[in-house]
Amino acid sequence: MIEENLKKIKAALPEHVTLVAVSKTKPNEDIMEAYESGHRDFGENKVQEMTQKHEDLPKDIRWHMIGHLQRNKVKYMAPFVHLVHGVDSLRLLKEINKQAKKHDRVIDCLLQMHIAKESTKFGLDDEELEALLTSEEFRLMENVKIKGLMGMATFTENHNVITEEFTYLKSRFDALKERPEQWPQLDMEILSMGMSGDYDLAISCGSTMVRIGSSIFGERSCKFK
Ligand SMILES: *Cc1c(COP(=O)(O)O)cnc(C)c1O
Repeated sequence: MIEENLKKIKAALPEHVTLVAVSKTKPNEDIMEAYESGHRDFGENKVQEMTQKHEDLPKDIRWHMIGHLQRNKVKYMAPFVHLVHGVDSLRLLKEINKQAKKHDRVIDCLLQMHIAKESTKFGLDDEELEALLTSEEFRLMENVKIKGLMGMATFTENHNVITEEFTYLKSRFDALKERPEQWPQLDMEILSMGMSGDYDLAISCGSTMVRIGSSIFGERSCKFK
């Protein structure tokens, strides 16, 4: 079932869109089923769970941290994480930079912007994004690379609302991408938006990376986990 779901979704994705299979709460056997069909990008939202799975599973899996991150957990994933999607503060980025340095690597990150109407969702607003990017501390960081932006739309059936939010994020992405001389530390390649319920919309709004869980692995027992 997992393999069929993956195939179907991949066949419908444009070539420039990367699929992150969100395997949070799902067992290793499910991940291996996707792995054996050739898939390598997996997303988790808890550091402890991701670290355990990284230990148990093949080492060529690219692990994406898509959840809200606590600074004291960064050290556990620093040796292996492929892309951190949810960077929403300078303090967090500083900690990622520090831990990356310990492992002599550069960790790729996305800055998460708050685009939804819900206050429960995390992310930077315009001013915070600008403040982070123009800060002296950021300028001095050598062990993180900002590869793009990430955002989550409001959980709603209203396509107009979702489209508006994704379009807004795309406009922020383009603004940073279009002036590389102003932002030498940015390497804007990735716009991570779209989940099972809204990835078609996200792609039509310019997404280059979708994070899909339940449409591949089935519903999770707790929707918000
Ligand atoms: C759980 C989660 C997803 C995947 O959600 P589905 O609706 O199961 O596709 C995507 N992004 C983030 C940040 C998540 O936490």
